[in-house]
Amino acid sequence: MTAPPPLPPAAPADPRADDTGEGAGGEGRGALAREALALGAFDHAVARTPGFRARAGQREMAAFIAETLAGVQPGDETVSGESAWPARGIAVVQAGTGVGKSAAYAATVIPLALAQNKRVILSTATVALQEQLVGKDLPALSRALPVPFAFALAKGRGRYVCRLKLDQLAGDDAAQTAHADLFGVDEGAPTASADTWQQRARQYTTWAQALDQGDWDGDRDRLDEPPDAALWAPVAAERHTCTARHCPAYHGCSYYQARARLAQAQVIVVNHDLLLSTLGLHALPAPQDCFLVFDEAHHLGAVAQGQFTAQMDLMRSGWLDRLPRAVDEVASAIAHHPAADVATLARDLKTAIGDLARLAMADIGGLPGWGERRPDAPPTVRRLAGGVLPAGWEEPVGRVAALAAALLKVAEALAAQLKAIAREEPGEATRCAQLYSRIGGFAPRLQHAEETARLWLSAPAGGEPPLAKWLEAGVQHGLVTLTAHASPLQPGSLLAHHLWKQVRGAVVTSASLVTCGGFQHFLHEAGLAWDPAVRTREVASPFDHARQGRLVVVQTAADPRDVEAYTREVLAALMADLRGVRRGALVLFTSRAQMAQAQALLERGEHADLRQRVLVQGEAARGLLLRRHADRVAAGESSILFGLQSFGEGLDLPGELCEWVFITKLPFASPSDPVGQARADWLKSQGRDPFSDLVVPATGARLLQWTGRALRSETDEAVVVCYDPRLLRQAYGRRMLQGLPPYRLQRRVNGVLADV
Ligand code: SF4
Repeated sequence: MTAPPPLPPAAPADPRADDTGEGAGGEGRGALAREALALGAFDHAVARTPGFRARAGQREMAAFIAETLAGVQPGDETVSGESAWPARGIAVVQAGTGVGKSAAYAATVIPLALAQNKRVILSTATVALQEQLVGKDLPALSRALPVPFAFALAKGRGRYVCRLKLDQLAGDDAAQTAHADLFGVDEGAPTASADTWQQRARQYTTWAQALDQGDWDGDRDRLDEPPDAALWAPVAAERHTCTARHCPAYHGCSYYQARARLAQAQVIVVNHDLLLSTLGLHALPAPQDCFLVFDEAHHLGAVAQGQFTAQMDLMRSGWLDRLPRAVDEVASAIAHHPAADVATLARDLKTAIGDLARLAMADIGGLPGWGERRPDAPPTVRRLAGGVLPAGWEEPVGRVAALAAALLKVAEALAAQLKAIAREEPGEATRCAQLYSRIGGFAPRLQHAEETARLWLSAPAGGEPPLAKWLEAGVQHGLVTLTAHASPLQPGSLLAHHLWKQVRGAVVTSASLVTCGGFQHFLHEAGLAWDPAVRTREVASPFDHARQGRLVVVQTAADPRDVEAYTREVLAALMADLRGVRRGALVLFTSRAQMAQAQALLERGEHADLRQRVLVQGEAARGLLLRRHADRVAAGESSILFGLQSFGEGLDLPGELCEWVFITKLPFASPSDPVGQARADWLKSQGRDPFSDLVVPATGARLLQWTGRALRSETDEAVVVCYDPRLLRQAYGRRMLQGLPPYRLQRRVNGVLADV
């Protein structure tokens, strides 16, 4: 191993330091010093890590990050000389497959943060990447850097057991029946038998003992067998039922112990969902006080969309019958007098939800196909075009909003009173915590009702797009379900407001930020399009795509819009192609129905011999399926994975594990997505073309991910076969091609290949 280069000195000897700007010479020197420090740390880590090979693209990415973040000092309001406005820097980097982006950002940003006594939040979209960071990359980097650092994985509160609830339920099935009543087990959920309660009570007792003996730390993921939702939900930690430090179990609480460990960590690994859902809740360092890294950042828009969507159940409101009794009991226990008649409010809210449900059902009942619903049918979606409520709906929606808000006020006043008693009379803390959890169980339902109804009533401010509003009706466990939803059309503007405005320094990266040849679509979706702190860089993959890979576009006779004929032709061609697979292959379908049709073909005589070589997503847990695939390939057999969108992203199948990727159709988003439809309407009303502005770039990004499964290392060789002729025939297909790496491109007509 070569000797590591020394870290750069704290202050640079670079003569440019004196030319960095008027009145900001000191700051300019500081920025140069930080840039040198970050890049020097990266070089040091590369040289010190056994088996690590220097890569030009990786260093280019590290240098770009160091340069972008050098002027940033999180938490400091006066860093830019005379201006009270702090310097900001956001490095948006598309790093092609094989660049080694996690080392590029971690080895630069972490030293930069440590030098300023700041922390780093690394946010990802998938568990797989979190595991890679925590299990491999960060331990190696901590060993390689001269100053080691502590890191921890942050999980949502619901991943930890609530000790208070566990103690209440352990060994006492009667307590569980009461719990179901208090916390409002859904009327629609399958009811548990007495035997089930007893089994659960025994399991809770086992968990409580494991906690007492130190054999378990309360983390759901550390149980030998993952518990099912019905077993876990009653004892999961939850914000609304938690009095935190007023809780008698606080000092032994798994969740707060994990929080304490996070407080010691200089690097916190988290997922995008948790990061966005805890903004402003002080569960993580504030964005303005740390450096942030968003890996797999192409998911940010969709995650934000989910976070900012409100939803209310219109079918199950039996919990409102239980609410007055719970409030009454809690209020009496602490001699509190609610400022409103809770029984009347709850009854009126139930009536208002029922009125709205009847109007909605009458409306949905007229939709085609409702009468022949099968239990496994997808939900029927009724979108409120333009976000406008039908005539007569505003009145019950208004009642829902007002009544839910009034009940929330009552619950909040009770909760405040309970916390005050627990604070002032420590001997009462246990009783108060139990009473608090009783009221808190209702809070999320009231909040969902209030928020959804309020958003349904809202009209867009001048020039703003309306919200997407819709209903979903379906059948679950034999019962009809009906939910109301409201969602922003542009999650980017919410991200800009709630996240980016607070961020001082960040790296935003992924292998698929550039679509159709530019960053614009991603920047818009992620709320960064107008942020002056953004600098973009595309770092090319080190792979020789033209030599290592081929992209074959099959020119089918059938038009893909003629679904039946096209699917028939594609599946016939696919079956023939699968016979050529010698080792690993991946087939990506755009719909479950299409994948089921392919499976059905494999069951028939003609193709039955292929069936044993195929592993289908969903027929076993993903990890197990991939292990089987790897075992078969290692044994010299051919193995073919069938999968949908989630297999098109994040699967790492190097070498022989994936020598072929078959894409049955261009992966356009589902046409029934109500938010997508509402966005399309809005763009049309603005004189824009939603297909060109929205659909093509989004599909191009997905195609980039899907094709990216083929080459995973510089020695891989693979073929991508896309059966959709539109990729070559249509102008939008050629735009999508522009966003793909430079594979050798071929056309296949009637089985004959020709270079394009
Ligand atoms: S502090 Fe909160 S989560 Fe922890 S045991 Fe108490 S109520 Fe449960």
